[in-house]
Parts: sequence; C-alpha cells; structure tokens
Amino acid sequence: MFRKILIANRGEIAVRVIRACREMGIVPVAVYSEVDRAALHVRLAEEAYALGGSSPAESYLNIEKILAVARSCGAEAVHPGYGFLAENARFVERCEQEGLAFIGPPSRPMDLMGRKTTSRKVMSEAGVPIIPGTMEPIRDERDLRDAAAQVGYPLLLKASGGGGGKGLRLVRDASELASGFNMARSEAESSFGDSAVYIEKYIDDPHHIEVQILADHHGRTVFLGERECSLQRRYQKVLEETPSPFLDDETRRRMGETAVRAAAGIGYRNAGTVEFIVDGRKNFYFLEMNARLQVEHPITEMVTGIDLVKAQLEIAAGIPLDLKQEDIRPQGCALECRIYAEDPDNDFLPSPGRILHLHNPAGGFGIREDSGVYEGFVVPFEYDPLLAKLIAWGKTRDEALRRMRRALSEYRIYGIKTTVPFFKRILSHPRFLGGDYTTHFIADMEKETPIESSEEKRVAVLAAGLKSLWDARHEASYSSRGAVSPWKLRGRAESHSNASLR
Ligand code: ADP
Repeated sequence: MFRKILIANRGEIAVRVIRACREMGIVPVAVYSEVDRAALHVRLAEEAYALGGSSPAESYLNIEKILAVARSCGAEAVHPGYGFLAENARFVERCEQEGLAFIGPPSRPMDLMGRKTTSRKVMSEAGVPIIPGTMEPIRDERDLRDAAAQVGYPLLLKASGGGGGKGLRLVRDASELASGFNMARSEAESSFGDSAVYIEKYIDDPHHIEVQILADHHGRTVFLGERECSLQRRYQKVLEETPSPFLDDETRRRMGETAVRAAAGIGYRNAGTVEFIVDGRKNFYFLEMNARLQVEHPITEMVTGIDLVKAQLEIAAGIPLDLKQEDIRPQGCALECRIYAEDPDNDFLPSPGRILHLHNPAGGFGIREDSGVYEGFVVPFEYDPLLAKLIAWGKTRDEALRRMRRALSEYRIYGIKTTVPFFKRILSHPRFLGGDYTTHFIADMEKETPIESSEEKRVAVLAAGLKSLWDARHEASYSSRGAVSPWKLRGRAESHSNASLR
C-alpha cells in the first residue's frame, strides 16, 4: 500500500479522501490555492502545499505545479477527487510519466470516455444499448437537417466534449433547429473550447439512473447497485437516492450486468459509474461513463458498507478486489442532499461569503455529513459552491426520508444562503415522497406555489408576531416613563445605564 498520497482537489471531496487515507495509515498531502489557505482540507491534512493563485487554471488545474509538489514531497500516488483534473487524460499520462500512481482508470479508457461521440461509438461496439442519434459531430446546416429528420423530434443537441449540463439544447420541432444548433455550438465553444455538437433522440420524461462499478487490475469487475439521479435542475443533479424507487429487480440486474460489460469492454480499472437514461417502459440506454468517483458515491457506501475511496486506493495499489458479485447485497435505503451556497429564492445565484454560524446536523443514527467548510470559513466565489453533502440511511425509504427531514430541520447556517430550504420543500412534496418522479419533477415543482405552511413560514410569522408584541409593550413603557430604551444605553457609563434601568 502507498505511504503518501497527494490529493489534487479541495472542498468536501478532498476531506473525504483525507479521511480514508488516515484510516489506512497513509499520509494525506493537501494542495491549496491562495483563497483556500484556511480551508478545511488544508487544516486536516498532514502536509499542505501552496499552489499559488486563486483561479482554477493557476491552482487546481495546473498539472505541472501539482506534479512538482508531488515530486518534492515524495508522494507515490495522486487522488484527483472529482471535477478539476479527475477526467483529464493528459494529467493521467503525465502522472504515468512521472512514475506516480493515478487513483483512477488508465489514460486510454479515460480518453475513450472523455468525448460523448467516441464513448457512444465504443459502447455501441461493445453491445451496450445507446440513445438513438448521430455517432459523429454535425458538420454543417445540411448535415443538421438530414440528421434531425432521421432521428426525429423532439431531439437534444449535445456538445461532444460536454459535461455539467452545458451545451445541451432541447429542440422540439424543425423551427427551433437552426437557432438551437447555433446556441449549442457557441455554448460548447465557450465552455469547452470545442464547438462540436451531435444529436440524440430526446427521451421524454425519463429517469437518470446510474450504476456504480469497481474493476481491479486482475480482471474482476463488479457492480454495486444503482443510484436514482432524476432529481435535477437544469440537467444538474440535486438529490440522489438508492435504490431507485422506479426499478424492479430484473431491470436492476440487467443494468448492472450491462455496466460491467461496458467497463470490461474498454479495459476500465478502478471505480467508475455508467449512467443510463431509462424510459417509462424501463428500456435503458447508455448516457455516459464517468471515469472517477461521483459526488453521490456516499449513498452507495451507506447501503453496501463498502468504502469506495479505500477500494480505489487498494485497486490503484494493485490489490485484487476481495468482493464477489454475490457478496454485494445492499441493505436499506439512502439519500443525499447537495448543500450548495446558492440562493434558492434568487434563481440559485451563488452566495459566497463568510459562514457566521454553522450547526452541523450530522448527529444521530443513520446521518452522515461530508462537508468541506466550518464556522468562520469564507466560501470563495472562484469554485463550485458545494458546501457539504447530507446523507441519510434508513431501513426503509420512509425511514430514510424522515431522518433526512429531521437532519435538515437541525441545520443552522448563517451568513450565506444555502439550498437547505429547497430540500425541505422537495422532501415534503407528495410526489417525491411517493417515489413517483422523473427528470421533469423539479421544473414542475418550481411552477407550483410553495406550500404556505412550510416550517420557515411558521417561524417567520411567529417571529414577526413576537416582535410586534415586544415593540408595542416597550413603546408603551418608554412613553409612560419618557425614558430612553435601555438597549440604547447598554455598554455606556455605569451610572447612566443604572439610572435608566432603575
Ligand atoms: P452532461 O454530461 O452535460 O451532464 P448528460 O449527457 O450527462 O450531460 O445529460 C445530463 C442530463 O440531461 C441527464 O441526466 C438527463 O436528465 C438529460 N438528458 C441527457 N440526454 C437525454 C436524452 N437523450 N433524453 C432526455 N434527457 C436527456
């Protein structure tokens, strides 16, 4: 096993990896940007080195700076977390050249999965069902019209090099085609420096369900159940749960076996996720493969009891998986809320700034919080605003839901806005509680008026009532005595305040 690992990331995922290292007797090494000097991952790591700069390009995306730190501190391996360099085949190659173990797949499968058009081709060849659509980027307007006519409407235009929901455009009919194409291309160019766009059939009202796999260097690949990720806002995941309330055991098994076939077909190693779009009749189609640890990996850990980061480290060190498919028997249900520094009352605008007060609700049976922040920390605006993930496990879905509601009600965070109130709304919605939802759920919910009797509303009404009672009483007493409010005099000279308080 490795003695020292460099973690090329920040926030909650860097903390997550540090914890796994500690438990395995491995020395975790943190790197940090200017604005992250006091970040939690820096405080928790055994060693921490400045990268300088604050923009991602100057710090967490700077391959050569990170490799220089790895060399000088004597790290034997690099864990990339997710985001930043986690799916950068060039970084994997550079690690390989430097003799550093990269905790993830080899550069070739990563490269193959890096572009949506290439991954569709490779998967289709491996016998994995893919969403109907084009296999190559669209060349020009004529190609666009021909391909659209063949695929049919509604369709999705997608950036070949895409990710994070960027460069996606829904086209409902031919009249929207040309403008959708231009918008998708320019968003693809500005987000990924590559304007290539292709077409997929739009599967209406679908589920996004993904399968976690682990593959070692000795030919064993297993699947660890699925995650239902249909609760999305603007194509981005918001809340995930496992098992999916939509799947039956037979479809679950077939999806798991397909995911294993997909991974084996490209020589995949380490932890990975195969994402599927599932239609109303439970037909499933390959969407993409994420060649890294996912944000939502903890829900799988909660039901399987398998620490995925430890498994990643063992696989990278060449240790064979000591798990057989039949050993993996998920227990109970788990869900995860992504707590972002965003204002749900203001179109989810980022809300960076100092956390003035924080009470973590991670207490009590079945609750876990993977956080990257603490009270007093200034959430920088330079990076993804994910603060923490709140995870609840229950013997049944109902118990997990109640537990999550309980934990959310204990959450206290002041100084910045967060998505906690948004989750309270989702977790009191009858359709979500009934497990009856697709990727359209949040857009539909946002069109409804919020429930009047929400906890915040009650607290706000009570607070307003108390204040007016207080004001009325004090107004009466000041005017009858003609005195100045005692609060105004607090902290002034002893004689004054005593005089006024008497
Ligand atoms: P990105 O890589 O940018 O995250 P994905 O291809 O993973 O994009 O898709 C993001 C989300 O968009 C999916 O989870 C799903 O909700 C929706 N989506 C993607 N492709 C389709 C499709 N062909 N039909 C319907 N919805 C889709």
